[in-house]
Amino acid sequence: MRRPIQPRRSPVMTPDAPRKPFNARGSFVSRCPECRLPKLNCLCPYRVAAESRVRFWLLTHPIEHYKPTNTGRLISHILPETEVFTWYRTEPDPRLLALLDDDRFAPFVVFPDDQADYAERVVGPEAVDAALAGSRTPVFILLDGTWRQARRIFRRSEYLASLPVLPLKTSRLTRYRLRKAASSEHLCTAEVAAELLRISGDAEASAILDDYFEVFNENYASSRRDRPVEAPSGAMRRLLERR
Ligand SMILES: [Zn+2]
Repeated sequence: MRRPIQPRRSPVMTPDAPRKPFNARGSFVSRCPECRLPKLNCLCPYRVAAESRVRFWLLTHPIEHYKPTNTGRLISHILPETEVFTWYRTEPDPRLLALLDDDRFAPFVVFPDDQADYAERVVGPEAVDAALAGSRTPVFILLDGTWRQARRIFRRSEYLASLPVLPLKTSRLTRYRLRKAASSEHLCTAEVAAELLRISGDAEASAILDDYFEVFNENYASSRRDRPVEAPSGAMRRLLERR
């Protein structure tokens, strides 16, 4: 069974956000059990399943769980084969270990290439093409947490230590509006996934995830003002047409 998914902004390249109790705001709001947005601005009508040649496995820091502003869960709404694992340093999920051993998959840890000690593991997008050419499914492992949490997961997970590291090279700036990023170059988890889909040649899945992320931003922002989104946006219309 797929696990319930999580939390707020995040992943691979975010700086540490100030740690606040995630239920400080809106904890009395009635939320949709599926998308966890307030029912007033439920995201579910815009949920469209996309197809992709690649997969995502999220390794989510436990502190990130259940934060409604996390965008990692949006990926599994659009790509139902997405796997979400909670990261525990001393107890790796046996199902994740089994998947890492499965030859059908070619897993890559998505992480910056800014440290010398793992330089020999760093690969480029051509490694993803090579996996596809060899009939293996490329899998992007996203470390879902703040920057500090992601680094901790990367450094302390032995089972990741032999995997190739794929840094995301993009000029895209974040469009995430729910939390202030330290830099517009810090993408949230859903944006990282949309970029990886684009780089892997899955333009349609990338566009759908981007639109869904945009609708999440719009709906969440409206919820904070206790209002429904007034007029359907371009992203909303495009998603509704696909259903
Ligand atoms: Zn919903």
